[in-house]
Amino acid sequence: VERCIIVGGGHGGSQAAVSLRQEGYSGEIVLVSDEKDLPYHRPPLSKSYLKTPDGEGLVLRTEAVYRDNAVELELGVRAERIDVDGKRLIVADGRELGFTDLVLATGARARMPQLPGMEFDGIVTLRTMEDARRIRAAMPLVENVVIVGGGFIGMEMAHSCIGLGKSVTLIEAAPRVLARSVAPVVSAHVEERSRSAGIDLITSAQLAAIHGEGGKVVAVSTADGRRFDADMVVMGIGAVPNVELAAEAGLEVANGVVVDPNLRSSAPNIYAIGDCVSFDHHQLGERVRLESVQNATDHARHVARVLTGGGRPYAEVAWFWSDQGDMKIQTAGLATGADSLIVSGACEDNAFSVYHFRGEKLVAVDSINRPADHMIARRLLGAGITPSAADIAEGAQRLKQ
Ligand code: FAD
Repeated sequence: VERCIIVGGGHGGSQAAVSLRQEGYSGEIVLVSDEKDLPYHRPPLSKSYLKTPDGEGLVLRTEAVYRDNAVELELGVRAERIDVDGKRLIVADGRELGFTDLVLATGARARMPQLPGMEFDGIVTLRTMEDARRIRAAMPLVENVVIVGGGFIGMEMAHSCIGLGKSVTLIEAAPRVLARSVAPVVSAHVEERSRSAGIDLITSAQLAAIHGEGGKVVAVSTADGRRFDADMVVMGIGAVPNVELAAEAGLEVANGVVVDPNLRSSAPNIYAIGDCVSFDHHQLGERVRLESVQNATDHARHVARVLTGGGRPYAEVAWFWSDQGDMKIQTAGLATGADSLIVSGACEDNAFSVYHFRGEKLVAVDSINRPADHMIARRLLGAGITPSAADIAEGAQRLKQ
């Protein structure tokens, strides 16, 4: 009997298990995850989770869904090693699970800086539900929060903490926040609104040291000699892909498990999906590793089709969202290599979109509080249509046509 083992019960792994069955896979499906929680929605952890009364209710699918789809759950079980030739997965309790196909959906983990003082209590990262519970439990005694890193998670946490009445300082090393992901005009808008919301936002500053007393963090200081009080320091400086399992098994790895357009790794019958994957992007013509729910779930659906005999090369439009205070930021496509842009709408209204072009071609759209623009952008990019500047100026109705 065939057996597909999926390693990692995040957005990608959970979707892959269910999609495999929906696509008609008739073998056994086993989902192995080192987290004890049923697979859950990760995005709320930095958004609504801290503000809701019990903070639970985030499961992606109830236990019954896995049961009905005959998906065997192995939660709290860490995969330790892959025996590629023997087609076996060795897990932490020593069991050896045979597979016909293996899907790696191991995601990424929070990057930790190498700095003096990292051992103090009160220094946290946010990747898992366990992390979020710990942060939540500590919050009542926290007055000053320092957030290191102005990426999406750092910015969301800053707004969430302001919403809880904390005093918040955010330290970003680059000259602007969200620099890797959005246009400068969007960064500037986010910075201005975040400062108005009360966040002490500091750019072009390097965290240099963490100071503690009695084993607890009390402050951080920057390379230019400034010092900021802190009862909690949230490290939001990016994520590193969990590729150790693949690398130790001899699979090709380059900032992610390297896969072909059908998400096959360099080893036969081993696939990889989601945050842990480096793949040739159809739009960019270069390798990327993306960190988004869209990427993980679309990869999962794709691998399910491949494993059941279907599937064309993966070619979905990348998209993403982030909620920060009164800003819903959405991106469609990838702006890497874009050389011109058009802004539609006004920053003053806190509702505008930025259309990115590479040469003549539309490659990405960033939207702030313009969900209709975002939805249309996904369709335009999917169909490979570039609207004219006049169409963009006329707005969503015209673009829809
Ligand atoms: P993950 O969801 O990370 O799942 C990987 C799983 O594999 C984990 O449970 C991990 O513990 C497990 N695992 C790893 N190694 C092993 C092993 N050896 N054995 C067993 N299990 C293992 N994306 C958006 O699109 N929009 C957002 O607003 C957004 N907000 C986010 C907010 C936060 C706080 C975080 C942390 C992420 C956010 N993301 C957001 C990103 C999104 O959550 C990820 O891109 C997505 O979860 C990736 O799915 P994945 O299945 O690849 O990996």
